[in-house]
Amino acid sequence: MNSTEIKDLYKQKIMQTYGRFDVVLERGEGSRLYSPEGREYIDFTSGIGVNCLGYGNESWAKAIYKQALKLQHTSNLYYTGPGVELAKELTERSGMSVVFYANSGAESNEGAIKLARKYSFDKYGEGRSKIVTLYRSFHGRTITTLAATGQDSFHNYFYPFTEGFLHAEANNINSLKEAADGACAVMLELVQGEGGVLPLDKDYVKAVAAFCQENDLLLLTDEVQTGIGRTGTLFAFQQYGIMPDVVTFAKGIAGGLPMGGILVNEKCAGVLSPGTHATTFGGNLIAAAAALEVMRQLTPELLGAVAEKGAYIRDAIKGWNCPAVKEVRGLGLMLGVSVEGVKPVDLVNKCIDNGLLMLTAGSDALRMLPPLTITYEELDKGLAILKKVLEEV
Ligand code: PLP
Repeated sequence: MNSTEIKDLYKQKIMQTYGRFDVVLERGEGSRLYSPEGREYIDFTSGIGVNCLGYGNESWAKAIYKQALKLQHTSNLYYTGPGVELAKELTERSGMSVVFYANSGAESNEGAIKLARKYSFDKYGEGRSKIVTLYRSFHGRTITTLAATGQDSFHNYFYPFTEGFLHAEANNINSLKEAADGACAVMLELVQGEGGVLPLDKDYVKAVAAFCQENDLLLLTDEVQTGIGRTGTLFAFQQYGIMPDVVTFAKGIAGGLPMGGILVNEKCAGVLSPGTHATTFGGNLIAAAAALEVMRQLTPELLGAVAEKGAYIRDAIKGWNCPAVKEVRGLGLMLGVSVEGVKPVDLVNKCIDNGLLMLTAGSDALRMLPPLTITYEELDKGLAILKKVLEEV
């Protein structure tokens, strides 16, 4: 099918829940994507932080192919190898104790919320079930994770939500302490992604961790967007000098296949006992084989390069001295560029016209989440387009 045929059929047959850009994609190579007609785009989005190894990564594709030929799925009634090998990698490299596999970010967060409530119920009984999250946070689109999300714009239409979520001001420990009355846990994105690429202050995060420890509240970090190398370490918490009790991840873990999960420390390892939580596809063999290959390629060198490339992009944009740019913020290859005098979405459309895919975040920022393997040549090409677009504002 050509681009026009795809768009026409889409309008007839798929629920119109997404505001799609006028781009049709058929294949990719490295960090470049192509339309059916061969139009090239530099990709600064990686499918919203998913395709961490870019496109056409042979070892990743072979890992999937080999596993698909052998065995694709068994249910969680039986033991299989890829998931346990992956669990060993994830726990050893994060310092956490055990993992539960899910299929998406929202589902991972749902599981983490259940775990936090059960931890408290087992120890203290009923009535200590609240969870504190932050304003401008984003934790998913299910009814419970929407309740956790601290942005009213996502809350229209869908009431009533799951009870028991309280929101506090980011970087304000007193606000968090006030909200924490009757709580069993605090859930944070260390860099708020959808909210605008807003990194939390390190001192604040340390103060939250200390408060949680003193009051036996579980500290949950939602690393769905920040995890799996995105910020230059396997997980962002590793740059914050804290050890959370629970870490959720998804997006990048399987490099483009649906997978997520919950890593927990020793204290929480036995909370979700048999029969209390499950999902049919959790730990699916093909997703796990893909994830193992992602973990194999996420070497210390690659993670170091993520930090360097992030610094390279920041320096480049700051060096343009462009009046439309207010601030460049973020960690590693999770970057936001706040702009003034122009709507981020209009800039994204102009970037598309010039052959660059970009994202927005919050109301005022462009967001970049390129593949972690992006080359400097691809970066330069994308940055040249962004510069041209910003200068034309
Ligand atoms: N948590 C965070 C921090 C996210 O950025 C997202 C998605 O953008 C989610 C949760 C939800 O993930 P998913 O769309 O895989 O359900």
